Amino acid sequence: MSIAASAWEPVVLPKIAWGKGSYVYDSSGKQYLDGSGGPAVFCLGHGHEEVNAAIKSQLDRVAHGYRYTFTSDPLEQLNAIVARRCGGSLTRMVLVTGGSEAVESCLKIALQYHAARGEMTRRRFISRQRSWHGNTLGALSVSGFSERRAPFEGALVEASFLSPVNEYRPPMGVAPEQVAEYCANELEREILRLGAEHVAAFIFEPVVGAAGGAVPAPGDYARRVRAICDRFGVLMIADEVMCGAGRCGTWRALEHDGVEPDIMAVAKGLAAGYFPLGAAIYSERVAKPIIERYGAPLTGHTFTAHTTGCAAGLAVQTIVERERLVEKVAREGVELKSMLREAIGGRDYVGDIRGRGFFIGIELVADRARKEPFDPALQLFVRVRERTFANGLICYPAGGNVDGVRGDQIIVAPPYNASRDELAEIVDKLARSLAEVVPAP
Ligand code: PMP
Repeated sequence: MSIAASAWEPVVLPKIAWGKGSYVYDSSGKQYLDGSGGPAVFCLGHGHEEVNAAIKSQLDRVAHGYRYTFTSDPLEQLNAIVARRCGGSLTRMVLVTGGSEAVESCLKIALQYHAARGEMTRRRFISRQRSWHGNTLGALSVSGFSERRAPFEGALVEASFLSPVNEYRPPMGVAPEQVAEYCANELEREILRLGAEHVAAFIFEPVVGAAGGAVPAPGDYARRVRAICDRFGVLMIADEVMCGAGRCGTWRALEHDGVEPDIMAVAKGLAAGYFPLGAAIYSERVAKPIIERYGAPLTGHTFTAHTTGCAAGLAVQTIVERERLVEKVAREGVELKSMLREAIGGRDYVGDIRGRGFFIGIELVADRARKEPFDPALQLFVRVRERTFANGLICYPAGGNVDGVRGDQIIVAPPYNASRDELAEIVDKLARSLAEVVPAP
């Protein structure tokens, strides 16, 4: 297999033929263990008969009832189950077709909330470096991912970017145990610098995905951020597109931190890859002025709340709840992390193993003591992707987590219903592939 010159360069890909459980097969019959759920999507694995039956049965009745013409049972039931799983006051939602659209709607709901309250100066978003919120222009504008932004610079909405929140790589001169306080204070300083009357919302990933490699914020960071947002009338948007819907062992990732955002994006795990589905979920407090002034959020599309998509999401969420899979992820996530630590944690090139639930990041380093990343010219994460794939394992390596260019990390995000043997096989294949591909020091 050839080494791609860039992570985005097209390569000749095998054709996917079919999938069952944690495995997919290409048209030549080769088997792959899906150790990352694609990009943390397939939380029930592949070919789940109950989900497929729900989709087929909906299609046999009607594919879609357009949102301004009809409501539907799947839509109403999905709303109810998602609101219940969110708990607290996150009961309102706009159902969309993916993560970027969900984030886009979150941003617009925040702007519309301030507009409804007559605060038209609150237009600015604050985000963080090493973050990813999506490929549409609004979501890209608040994404701290330089390589993906570069061709669009100059046409993006202006936003503020704070330091990444990462105990393994704290901001310069900050001790790991001070990261939460330092980074929360940075938010406050930026709000004061801009003037709170200009700030609409702070958007962040509670556990950073592709841009960081499953990096949870430490200790009481989220609680501190919540307090600062409240103090300055700034809305808190949690982007849980990747880390939410149970992936981290709680249905909402921020549940772990005991914090409720005002607005939240979920997508990937919501319909588990069986249908394109996402949601912008918001609280009653945010809904009230919007509904009073405008009647509804001015966001959404032709396929908003697609009836078959809702049927898929409902089936997935029903199974996840009935089979107590989020609890399983919480329990077995701890074991998966220790299995990884045991298999590769002692290797010189493994700098950090982190994450929550079935959302685990492994950071590769050239020098462990100095946390020095590999030379980006090596494109090590691309080589890891190619080698694991050749060895029949799908995982999710990405680069640039250190400074936008340097850094190699791998996300492991198995289906929630993966068996213990399958988890062991993921660890085994990954350990072997890394040994084959990482250069000796
Ligand atoms: N937010 C986060 C945290 C993501 O990981 C992603 C996708 N990787 C997105 C938003 C965008 O989602 P989508 O690709 O479904 O548009």
